[in-house]
Amino acid sequence: MIQITMPLGFLGTVYREIRQSLVDMGEMFDLLQQQAEIEDKADAPVLNVKGGEVTFEDVTFHYDPTRPILKGISLRVPPGQTVALVGPSGSGKSTIGRLLFRFYDVTGGAIRIDGQDLRDVTQESLHDAIGVVPQDTVLFNDTIRYNIAYGRADASEEEIIAAAKAAKIHDFVISLPEGYDTAVGERGLKLSGGEKQRVGIARTILKNPPILLLDEATSALDTQTERDIQTSLKAMGKGRTVITIAHRLSTIADADRIIVLEKGEIVEEGRHEDLLMQRGRYASMWARQSAEEEEAEEQGAA
Ligand code: ADP
Ligand code: MG
Repeated sequence: MIQITMPLGFLGTVYREIRQSLVDMGEMFDLLQQQAEIEDKADAPVLNVKGGEVTFEDVTFHYDPTRPILKGISLRVPPGQTVALVGPSGSGKSTIGRLLFRFYDVTGGAIRIDGQDLRDVTQESLHDAIGVVPQDTVLFNDTIRYNIAYGRADASEEEIIAAAKAAKIHDFVISLPEGYDTAVGERGLKLSGGEKQRVGIARTILKNPPILLLDEATSALDTQTERDIQTSLKAMGKGRTVITIAHRLSTIADADRIIVLEKGEIVEEGRHEDLLMQRGRYASMWARQSAEEEEAEEQGAA
């Protein structure tokens, strides 16, 4: 019984995580087919995470051989640091995330975590090491407690509450008549987008992965909720290696390194201030977004 439910449960998690943050719905079927083709090497060892250093070494990738997508990406994320990927839509940001999770194998070069090639370790241990925070968390028709503890059946009540506090959802939960026993999901209490996302963050905090992959979709959250979520995400990132795919540059200005992608190539990289001084791609993206945000705020105030 356990042998059947465990892999299925795991697949369910992967299915939801990829569906929620790294792929469009239409890509799902392709992706699961592709996923099934990737097999562990015979006797592959588990990934041995030390600090959680992520390196891409001259990585090339294509979905279709006639159309190269990544054209030689080299980057290093030192343990505990945050790297942000920015760039126009279609530049390859989400693809980098998918490769790190090994939904696909690179077509050239290598990706390593603490020196170990992703292709040499078990996928299960790889997935255990990486937390993906979905933009749009799908809740199960069950209690809030179950939804937070999902994937960590052994979690104690204290651990669940600590994760909920860190994700800033605890006060909301205890304000409900049934607290952590409140049924949520389609047949239960409907949570707002921000509340659902906090449940997703609490779930990831409980999983406690050394590496975080955040694919920040253009969300429909209001500005205050967005800011609160950013605070929770930043708290979660402390002491972990974080790769964040950002659309709003204001959320990643304090990243240790910002990488600007264009058509599958790194065209600029550095810290926010350095990139502004270069007056290149990043600086003009920043100027454009700042103007847009100011305009939006003026309209909001009017
Ligand atoms: P970004 O996240 O920067 O918007 P993506 O990594 O999603 O970019 O996509 C990079 C390129 O790869 C785009 O041109 C996109 O159309 C293409 N692409 C993404 N997923 C697939 C797929 N499953 N099959 C074929 N092409 C894809
Ligand atoms: Mg994307």
